[in-house]
Amino acid sequence: MKEYESFILGGGPAGITAALYLLRAGIKVGWAEKLSPGGQVLLTENIDNYPGFPQGVKGWELIDKFTAHLDQFEFDKFRDEAIEIRSQSGSYVVKLSESEISARTLIICTGARWRKLGIPGEKKFTGRGVSYCAVCDGNFFRGQEVACIGGGDTALEESLYLSKLVKKIYLIHRRNALRGAKIYQDKIFRDPKIEILYDTIATEFAGDTSLTGINIENALTGSKSLLHVTGAFVFIGLDPAGGFFPPGLETDALGFIKTDQEMMTSLPGIFAAGDIRSKYCRQVSTAVGDGATAAYNAQAYLEHNS
Ligand code: NAP
Repeated sequence: MKEYESFILGGGPAGITAALYLLRAGIKVGWAEKLSPGGQVLLTENIDNYPGFPQGVKGWELIDKFTAHLDQFEFDKFRDEAIEIRSQSGSYVVKLSESEISARTLIICTGARWRKLGIPGEKKFTGRGVSYCAVCDGNFFRGQEVACIGGGDTALEESLYLSKLVKKIYLIHRRNALRGAKIYQDKIFRDPKIEILYDTIATEFAGDTSLTGINIENALTGSKSLLHVTGAFVFIGLDPAGGFFPPGLETDALGFIKTDQEMMTSLPGIFAAGDIRSKYCRQVSTAVGDGATAAYNAQAYLEHNS
């Protein structure tokens, strides 16, 4: 079994930064990322709040720069994902789908996944009208009428992106006030292609072989109707990409990992960074900060427990 001083799970901005800091400190590092490095950022059209890019930067462009920096170092990268973690004689053994590794410290940076609505038709029409990524699928709906579901930053930002492509957007929100930042709200209110359906709940995705509409219900009056759209984008938040955590690792009620301000979890030698962490502000910049802090403290842990 391969052994590491520190093993990083997940290759988004938090994982990349943690790896960079540890490798620069001469620590023996390994990491596992089941897809290409970059995580959700690769699915983000434009990032306009990362310092150093006053005109904004495409998600993939930023990740290209991150990975170019990391590529200066040689280290073991497993294109794989964690299935299980167990502790064994002062180290942790991580079971990946194709092998096992052992490490004295772990940094969990597996991020979060888009949440599903869980309504009838969602599974059937995913990829046939229902999507979770405007940048990936928006182009298929050029000139068509679509709906976006949710009222947070993602729903607002992605609606603004889609409005450049589609004919009309119904923004379906379950309450009477949007949650997303005011700067996005102002743009949404000014966009003639976007109609907000407040107090509205999507109850079913309808169609035959592909999506033709969404059954909706007014949360206040209970009145029901069919909204004719060929595309539906679900942006209702994030769930932790977990399922492999070791026993005793404390999480919040939603399953995100609890840490202290040093990114230390409830288990010695296990750190968490980025979107997988229980926190309010999930941004590339906060993920980078988390990754650096976790790496710094993992290094300190290795020094004090050698
Ligand atoms: P979010 O902030 O958790 O918002 C989720 C939205 O979906 C809320 O409006 C919520 O309604 C609604 N919702 C949740 N469950 C629902 C359900 N079952 N049915 C219908 N509606 C439901 O998630 P997010 O917008 O994906 O953002 C996630 C994090 O990333 C946030 O911290 C956000 O600030 C950050 N983010 C930042 C940026 C940026 O700054 N550029 C861009 C994107 C995301 P309620 O309002 O009623 O709860």
